[in-house]
Amino acid sequence: MEQKPLKELLAIRAHLMGQLRGLDPRLINGSLAETSTTCGRAGCRCQRGEKHVKVNLCKKVDGKSCTTYVPQDLVEEVRRGTEEFKRAKELLKEIADVNWAIIRGHGRRQREKKRMAKGLRLVSS
Ligand SMILES: [Zn+2]
Repeated sequence: MEQKPLKELLAIRAHLMGQLRGLDPRLINGSLAETSTTCGRAGCRCQRGEKHVKVNLCKKVDGKSCTTYVPQDLVEEVRRGTEEFKRAKELLKEIADVNWAIIRGHGRRQREKKRMAKGLRLVSS
């Protein structure tokens, strides 16, 4: 991120915080995985090739995968939730980047202040 004035950085951060607050609380980490299966019922459509589609929500916990079945009527909501979680992560990263820029700019502003003070002393003495 190029160095912007502090005022501008604070405005960007406030805007990003507003977006963070506006996120849907149903955000969820993980990804959806579809599997198709056949059942044992005689004459079921799955035995003619129209397999039953099951959707699972998966995530890794301490390197192990954790999976839960997602009922069909929740699939769309969960899908949106996983996108919202990605958005939340992006926003957090952007806010943290702004804070990096603020820290970087701080040293520069301090040096600038010292230079100004020195300059004033030179003028007044
Ligand atoms: Zn079946």
